[in-house]
Amino acid sequence: MSTQPSSGFRAEYACSEGCGFRASLWEVIYRCPKCGSLLEVAHDLEALRSVPAAEWKRRFESRFGSARLPNASGVWGKHEWVCPELPVEDIVSLGEGRVPLMPLRRMASELGLASLELKECGVSPTGSFKDWGMTVLVSAVKHLRARGVPIRAVACASTGDTSAALSAYAAAAGIPSVVFLPKDKVSLAQLVQPIANGAKVLSLDTDFDGCMKLVQQVTEDRGLYLANSMNSLRIEGQKVVAMELCQDLDWEPPDWVVIPGGNLGNASALGKGFQMLKAMGLISRLPRIAVAQAQRANPLFRAFRGGFQELLPMKAEKTLASAIQIGNPVSFRRAVRTLQAFDGVVEEATESELANAAARADREGTFTCPHTGVALAAVEKLVAQGVIAKGSRVAVVSTAHGLKFADFKVGYHRGTLADVESRRANPPVELPAELGAVRKALESLG
Ligand SMILES: *Cc1c(COP(=O)(O)O)cnc(C)c1O
Ligand SMILES: [Zn+2]
Repeated sequence: MSTQPSSGFRAEYACSEGCGFRASLWEVIYRCPKCGSLLEVAHDLEALRSVPAAEWKRRFESRFGSARLPNASGVWGKHEWVCPELPVEDIVSLGEGRVPLMPLRRMASELGLASLELKECGVSPTGSFKDWGMTVLVSAVKHLRARGVPIRAVACASTGDTSAALSAYAAAAGIPSVVFLPKDKVSLAQLVQPIANGAKVLSLDTDFDGCMKLVQQVTEDRGLYLANSMNSLRIEGQKVVAMELCQDLDWEPPDWVVIPGGNLGNASALGKGFQMLKAMGLISRLPRIAVAQAQRANPLFRAFRGGFQELLPMKAEKTLASAIQIGNPVSFRRAVRTLQAFDGVVEEATESELANAAARADREGTFTCPHTGVALAAVEKLVAQGVIAKGSRVAVVSTAHGLKFADFKVGYHRGTLADVESRRANPPVELPAELGAVRKALESLG
């Protein structure tokens, strides 16, 4: 079976603020040299429209069952819409994407929603949605190196999940990687991932924003390729989350999509995915988008309250939602544009709200990370405010696997998390190994 996409599809970089700058995807460039804005990948939609919408749906669906790469990847099964000119032999995939859409039936019915579903993006090779974008970025780097572009290594700043994804994909491709982590601000599981994959791990005595600043400075050297989400190649892979969600729902988008936001690349990516589906006629309307932030790292929420006049960078405080502990989001302007196009809102969650919302979802069989807890708490609050109407169909982007955050879970159920009242704690029962005591303990099961 041929997996090479039909020729004639093209994409290139364009200035995201529309100043007219364009460049080849095979240039090492992250910002518009004319106005300093971020770049975006612009697809030739006319060429893509040469295939009718119904045929795209058929193609995407037929590839979904494939056991072989590249179509076994949820991202590369949509190759033509992601990075059409990337040769199949340069794809670096670990089998990302194609994740469950998990219904939370009890929570939906308690909240009066028609449906509440988790797009489980953390059911993924390195345990977070970052894999969806990183497969595209690392594949592009592999292609650049094959073309003779002198890239020695790939580098990123991270709150834990980007570095795990980058180091895994780079290891698979045989490309050296360097990760900048804020010391003591990522979970132990997240720290050990790049270590295991052979990355050079720099643990810096600063926060994420400090790491981000440094990595931007060192990647001014073109031999070190920047892998943060200001690099718009990652957005192209993450955009597929929106495409896959609509495919899961037989191309009938939900009423609301709720996304936890830190650096705000993912909210922008989902927006781009929905917009492209609509422009191509695969869906007929857009969902509304809600971005959810931790109250302790809420610059977008504050800007939203102020009518999006401006971003006031803040010092993000320590939060259980450590992957979104970001005070100066790189994709702020992109995210504001997305929210404006999707009649969007921004909500925030306290430590107690996010931890209890995560525990509530866990009772239905998932294992929710604290960031997904932020999004679920936002759903509870937006329903209570009447912003999300009763009877709505709601999808939440679950961004990471809870197994990366075992300390958070243990602390919750022990009741030892600061500023959290554990309303659903389920601590183990400690007993002598005696039949009578065991029988007595089981009485409450009925
Ligand atoms: C990166 C990350 C986020 C935030 O995504 P942004 O694109 O930075 O807004 C949320 N949750 C988890 C688990 C993450 O790793
Ligand atoms: Zn520009």
